[in-house]
Amino acid sequence: MRIVLLGPPGAGKGTQAQYLANTYSIPHLSTGDMLRSAVAEGTEIGKRAQALMTSGQLVSDDVVTGIVAERLTSLECRSGFILDGFPRTLGQAQELHRILRSTSSPIDVAISLEVDENALAKRIEKRVMDAQAAGETVRSDDNPEVLKRRVAEYKAKITPVADYYDGLGILHPVDGMREIGTVSATIDSILSGTRFSNDSGQRATARSR
Ligand code: ADP
Repeated sequence: MRIVLLGPPGAGKGTQAQYLANTYSIPHLSTGDMLRSAVAEGTEIGKRAQALMTSGQLVSDDVVTGIVAERLTSLECRSGFILDGFPRTLGQAQELHRILRSTSSPIDVAISLEVDENALAKRIEKRVMDAQAAGETVRSDDNPEVLKRRVAEYKAKITPVADYYDGLGILHPVDGMREIGTVSATIDSILSGTRFSNDSGQRATARSR
């Protein structure tokens, strides 16, 4: 079960990816999280990514595909994965296809979370307040100015990615304005109607929903 989650910042990709990871026992790969770890650890990649991330711009395709390729071809991803925040450009989608060719298992399904642009700022504001209330660090790019840039970047780059998956017949738009549980249930029903390239897409029976 190889899933790509598309959607603007604040669409709920992280929340749904976590739900899917728990439900189907497959790893959740967030390029945003990987890059934030690289920044926190002060690696070479982190140093290259930091300024771009803080200003809401995309990190270059070669840097991002480099970090994701390593994980995708690792043992942990043999039974599938959920990609959150990748691919974000057509070049990344094509590179992803190339990486997966070496594993003979292409992307099975691309879910696009559709959310009103006006709702995004409110959601990010809530994320900031929740993080502060929990005593967690607030993301340096979670502020109104940078959010505008992130949304603009998303809109500028995502159409060819969505068209690419649509052309493969695996793109499923999902209304991301509904409640979290309703969105999860909608994704579940899409997955239950999807033919997977291997038989790994089993719901984890031990977990309750
Ligand atoms: P969001 O979807 O809320 O913007 P992410 O955590 O996915 O948050 O991404 C945060 C930042 O990390 C992006 O604004 C961008 O700078 C960088 N980033 C994450 N994924 C990618 C990607 N696939 N390509 C380029 N940059 C990325």
